[in-house]
Amino acid sequence: MSVLDLARAEIRNLAPYSSARMEANGGKVLLNANENPWPPHGDDGQHLNRYPDPQPVELVEKLAAIYGVTAAQTLVGRGSDEFIDLLTRAFCRAGKDGIVISPPTFGMYAVCARIQNARVREVPLRAEQDFSLDIDALLKAVTTTTRLVYVCTPNNPTGGVVGLKEIEYIATALKDRAVLIVDEAYGEFSSEASAASLLAQHDNLVVLRTLSKAFALAGARIGVALAAPEIIDLLRRIMAPYPLPATSVNAALKVLSSEAISEMHQRVGLLCAERDRLLVAFAALPVVKKVWPSEANFLCLQFADAQLVYRTLLAQGIVLRNVSHYPGLADCLRISIGRSLENQRVLAALSALTEVV
Ligand SMILES: *Cc1c(COP(=O)(O)O)cnc(C)c1O
Repeated sequence: MSVLDLARAEIRNLAPYSSARMEANGGKVLLNANENPWPPHGDDGQHLNRYPDPQPVELVEKLAAIYGVTAAQTLVGRGSDEFIDLLTRAFCRAGKDGIVISPPTFGMYAVCARIQNARVREVPLRAEQDFSLDIDALLKAVTTTTRLVYVCTPNNPTGGVVGLKEIEYIATALKDRAVLIVDEAYGEFSSEASAASLLAQHDNLVVLRTLSKAFALAGARIGVALAAPEIIDLLRRIMAPYPLPATSVNAALKVLSSEAISEMHQRVGLLCAERDRLLVAFAALPVVKKVWPSEANFLCLQFADAQLVYRTLLAQGIVLRNVSHYPGLADCLRISIGRSLENQRVLAALSALTEVV
């Protein structure tokens, strides 16, 4: 059985749109795309009058090398958010198929499923065990109409990780039954190895990466899907013909130079050190009921009254993420790790709250 048997038949059989840029074949006189022959005002050699390369070879090859996979296993898109949407549409028949998620987790999995009218089955993380993944329950929730199973590691918003051995076990258990999507948006902040190393053995595995977090490029919207070449081909069929703005591709190439990558690692190291320092400092505050260990660039904190803490800090110009509405996270706020001075301000504001709450 091929993993493509799990995909929607009409997507499998779809002839992809052939864009003018794909058909250009190295020609020099480009009169096939109704483009304007002059670069726009302020172009600075970017050739923004031309449609961009749908999958720029240099960018794809650099990303493949970084994640330790082949270019055929690599697809670049508009943030990893785009791949969550594409995977849902490629695999889930509206009104028939479904996904399995483990809340509290990233909200887009369920949002994309609901847009597609795919069922959402929830297998909660084990709140009493630092929100660890309940693997047995997860596998039991998989039915004949389950198409996608999401594992977010490190998990947003709780920060916990799932080990590589466990990911491999789940991928094996789901073979010929469902696609396992491992969302590693915060992978660089974690000591856990990437599931990308399992791709050669598991054709039902998709690993999502992004330049938005560790690479500091959220504004450029560059996400990456790593998967078996047949899944990459499938997703390309339903992707927009020109998904990547040339300006974003140029920005991505800059952050992937070896000099920029060592700077990224240095900053990730700083953020992780700040995170671990803040974990201890927050835990010592009377106002903080609980703080969970995190391998991402944020911490999840529980208070007696999260709304009050949220509003008090907002009045001082400090914006936290209120995650109290997530299942299992009553009275919790998520705090992104910022620069030292920003972190000091949060710590001082929470310390001052001790008398109020
Ligand atoms: C931030 C985030 C993403 C989205 O990343 P983009 O590449 O910016 O779309 C995906 N998954 C998780 C868990 C995230 O927290």
